[in-house]
Amino acid sequence: MILILLGPPGAGKGTQAHRIVESRGIPQLSTGDMLRAERDSGSPLGKKVKAIMDGGNLVSDEVIEKLLTARIKQPDCARGFILDGAVRTVGQAKMIDRVLKKQKRALDVVIELVVDEDELVNRLKRRVADTIASGKPVRPDDNEETFRKRQAVYRQETAPLIPFYQEQGKLRKVDGMASVAEVAAAIDAILDEFSAAKR
Ligand code: AMP
Repeated sequence: MILILLGPPGAGKGTQAHRIVESRGIPQLSTGDMLRAERDSGSPLGKKVKAIMDGGNLVSDEVIEKLLTARIKQPDCARGFILDGAVRTVGQAKMIDRVLKKQKRALDVVIELVVDEDELVNRLKRRVADTIASGKPVRPDDNEETFRKRQAVYRQETAPLIPFYQEQGKLRKVDGMASVAEVAAAIDAILDEFSAAKR
């Protein structure tokens, strides 16, 4: 099962991806996590992407291609994987198709978490307040200004993936404003359908 979780920053993709990892035993590939690890390690790539990430912009498709092609070849991806915020431009979507085709594999389904942007900003504010209250460090890109910028980048660069995957018949929509449990149940129903079809 190869699936993409699509939706703006803060839509709950990470939360749902972690749950699918537990229930289906396939890994979550988050380019955001990979890039944060590079940035925090101070590697040459990390230094290159730091300002781009901290400003809420997208790193180049070439960087994402390098990260993902290496990761997808790992043995734990053999049974499938979840691309969590890892496909952000039509260029990246085409790249993933190419890479998978070379491995004689294909994307199964794209699940879009449909959300309300203003409510996401409220959620962000609550998350930042909770993080501060618990004494943990706040992510450099977790402030309202950068968050709104990331939403705008999503609308401009990533939202075109919705018609792209719709045309391929691979897009499924889930109400991302429902509770975590309800979103999880809706996603599970879609994944069960695909697992049954593959058997
Ligand atoms: P995320 O945690 O997925 O929201 O990612 C955090 C930041 O990493 C984004 O705001 C981008 O700067 C960068 N990033 C993560 N994934 C990608 C991607 N697939 N393409 C371009 N930039 C990305």
